[in-house]
Parts: sequence; structure tokens; C-alpha cells
Amino acid sequence: MRIDLHAHSTASDGTDTPEQLMSAAVSAGLDVIALTDHDTTAGWQSALAQRPAHLTVVRGAEFSCVYRRADGVRVSVHLLGYLFDPDHPRLSGEQARLRQARLTRGQEITARLSAAGYPISWQQVVELADGGVVGRPHIARALVAGEVVPDVAAAFSGLLASDSAYYVPKPDTDVFTALALITEAGGVAAIAHPLAHRRGPVVDDEALSAFTEAGLVGLEVDHPDHGEPERAHLARLAADLELVALGSSDYHGGNKATPLGACTTPVAAYSLLVDRPTAMRPIGDR
Ligand code: AMP
Ligand code: ZN
Ligand code: FE
Ligand code: FE
Repeated sequence: MRIDLHAHSTASDGTDTPEQLMSAAVSAGLDVIALTDHDTTAGWQSALAQRPAHLTVVRGAEFSCVYRRADGVRVSVHLLGYLFDPDHPRLSGEQARLRQARLTRGQEITARLSAAGYPISWQQVVELADGGVVGRPHIARALVAGEVVPDVAAAFSGLLASDSAYYVPKPDTDVFTALALITEAGGVAAIAHPLAHRRGPVVDDEALSAFTEAGLVGLEVDHPDHGEPERAHLARLAADLELVALGSSDYHGGNKATPLGACTTPVAAYSLLVDRPTAMRPIGDR
């Protein structure tokens, strides 16, 4: 069994439509895929409508959250919510607030870049997002189109990095509020790429322990942004805290070099994650 529990579509900042993602999952030899777009569940319906016969789809979303570390540092935390009720009023309301905030923030980043002379416009960014939830990858693609940078990765390591003068933070959800919302909506919460240092400050062990007490169930151990030391540390921590250790690609289509199935979740961990009385069921055979 090949199980990939973290992938993005054009409903947010991936480049495959939900339909294309379904066929890409089959081509990658996956048995189970989770669709986890940022701050939206808009891709679920078309993904399920086009679901190939033997592919199982886990409905999910990635929630942008913030955590204030004991040392005062603001840490961006991405939570994966799986199998929650998409119509839970407070959860869907929070997603709507974040999508709106992404528009204002994307516009501000674009305005700063444009004022500094970089040839990009907000209209172009909106067109690149094509109705999906706007994210920095869309701004990165506008910068690539304007030949400011050679590729999306170069934009992220320079102009769009979190320590860049052009960067604007989003008013993300408090991580404990998001954990409560996902749980209340019947879902299962996991933390995405907790030790992806390249993206900015990361959580410490104390934080992961506090999240676990607040209802966290899973921990992404195998992720393309984790090296061997991070994976070893997280595997140990998952065992200590009794968290389910997950592996996922965080596929974004052409916006990132990582292919689907680059990291996968063992079937035993998958069962522990999804077999919960309050959660919706994955759709398909598994
Ligand atoms: P945002 O949510 O708008 O702050 O943008 C962050 C998104 O950009 C996340 O989904 C990341 O997966 C993606 N991202 C972060 N670093 C990179 C990178 N080096 N190349 C491509 N995408 C990235
Ligand atoms: Zn993304
Ligand atoms: Fe993420
Ligand atoms: Fe992601």
C-alpha cells in the first residue's frame, strides 16, 4: 500500500486540478491520497467526482496557524485536518476569514514588490491563482514570468522569504483554537512539516507536547523538508508522545520539485489516524 496524506491542487497553490491530481495519484502508484488544500475544502467535490475506482481519497485541509514560543518567537505552524465536517460553522468561518486575509496580504506583498520596481501586478497574481486560494507560490510564479527569478524556489529563498523586506505575515489562527476546531468538527489533527527550518522558526519539543495535550493526533515525520536528523528526532518524539508518525510528499504540482508519493505513510499508522468514531470516512476501498 502506498499512502500519501498531504497534497495540494489548484483549489489552493498546487498546479494540478483536483481531477488531474486523482490521475496523477494513480500514475504515482498510490492507493490512498489526501487532498489538503490551504484554508479550503473547495476541491473535495471535484476530486471525489473524478475518483478512480481503486483510489481512496481522504478529505482534508491544511490550516495556517501561529504559535508563540516560550522564548517569544512567533512560529508559523501548519496543521493538517482530516475527515472533519466541512460545514462546521466556526471551522468553515475561520477558513473563510483566512482566505480573505490571504487576499489582503497577497495584495500588500505584491504592492511592495511592484513599488520597488519588480514587474508584477496584483491582477496577474489573481489570474495565476485562477480562483484558488491565493498564496506566495502564485506571487512567485508572477516573479518568474517577469524574469525576476529563474524559478519558484528562488523566489522563496529571496524576495518572498519570511525575513524579506517584502514579506507580510498573515493573521493566522492560534494553533490551539485550530486544534479545538478540527476536533470539534469531528476531524483528526496532524502537524505538517514541524521541523522545516528553511521556512523560518520552528516549534520546540515543549510545544509539540502542549499540542498533543490539546488534541493533536499525528506528526509528519517523513517530509521532503526534513533531513535525517529531523526525521530521527521526530520519530522518537512521536513514540514518546504517542503520536501517529506520518509520511507525505506535500505535493504542489509544478510549483515544487517533489513528486507525489515522495514520502509515504505506513498502513498501520494510516489506520490509527483514520479509524476514529467521530471522523468522516475516507472514500474508497481502504
Ligand atoms: P503562504 O501560504 O502564502 O505563506 O505560502 C506558503 C506556501 O508556499 C506553502 O504551501 C509552501 O508549501 C509553499 N512553499 C514554501 N517554500 C517553498 C519553496 N521553496 N518552493 C515552492 N513552494 C514553497
Ligand atoms: Zn502550499
Ligand atoms: Fe505547509
Ligand atoms: Fe502543504
